[in-house]
Amino acid sequence: MRTITAATRVLALLGDPVEHSLSPVLQNAAFAAAGMDGVYVAVGCEADELVGLMRGIARAGGGGNITLPHKEKAASMLDMASDTVRRTGACNTFWGDERGRLHGDNTDVEGVRRALRGFLGSVKGIRVLLLGAGGAARAALMGLLEEGADEVLIQNRSVERARAVARRIGGERARVVAVPSDLDGESFDLVVNATRLGLSPDDPSPLDFERLSRVGSAVDLVYGRQPTAFVRAAEEFGVRATDGAEMLVQQGAASFELWWDAEAPLEAMRAAVEAARVG
Ligand code: NAP
Repeated sequence: MRTITAATRVLALLGDPVEHSLSPVLQNAAFAAAGMDGVYVAVGCEADELVGLMRGIARAGGGGNITLPHKEKAASMLDMASDTVRRTGACNTFWGDERGRLHGDNTDVEGVRRALRGFLGSVKGIRVLLLGAGGAARAALMGLLEEGADEVLIQNRSVERARAVARRIGGERARVVAVPSDLDGESFDLVVNATRLGLSPDDPSPLDFERLSRVGSAVDLVYGRQPTAFVRAAEEFGVRATDGAEMLVQQGAASFELWWDAEAPLEAMRAAVEAARVG
């Protein structure tokens, strides 16, 4: 049992809701495995409470993560924003420095890059269908392009939001699907779900795979106790698929490295997530 003292650093997940997040399980297992004197808690908060919480925790020597729906607001509050925050307009990790400045990064991008590499080896030169245009989709688009994807088609319920994401991050390699029927008969090396469909066990799959002619692999950024509807639909279509658990571990590992300037204990983190999913 670890001893909590006055020197223990407090790291907090700030968002709404936070009750179902596996980040506390993931990070406390990592702190214990690596011998870090820190404790990770989840704090539900409204948008207008965010700046006070972030500054107060950072000034006390701590930091944390930001989750849905505050990532964009958090990005606008930083004194020192990383290039990834500036490009995506979203912040998921924050910490303070000795001069009291608030730093932020977006480790969802590094998380998705590492998870894609682990699942596929390489995404260089491939054609991708990306579903969604929220914070996770922005991270996925940036990660896919930085890993060398050749072309990314973005489909989202709100087409305008997809256009905004393509303009901000995509450059010439991103295109927007105007209507779902434009996908009929198309082929993709990879399909990525970055919508929130799948968070609830009753959610339908965000994609009817039967519309497409060929899909190489499928990656869901959503994770849950059961296989998500997207993963099930992909596998029924004969496509190799995985959910967002490895991305969760990898974005958490990248955050750990920023807070502690030390290598993250990946195996302990994976084991904690798997145990929480089974239990
Ligand atoms: P967000 O910014 O709120 O975006 C939600 C996305 O889902 C938007 O594209 C939205 O479309 C779409 N959507 C919502 N309801 C829909 C519906 N009924 N039908 C079709 N599309 C719908 O959320 P986010 O931060 O991007 O997160 C998205 C998911 O990724 C969440 O489940 C989150 O848990 C997951 N995630 C996982 C990780 C990980 O580490 N594995 C990291 C980050 C996020 P509109 O634009 O039309 O509203």
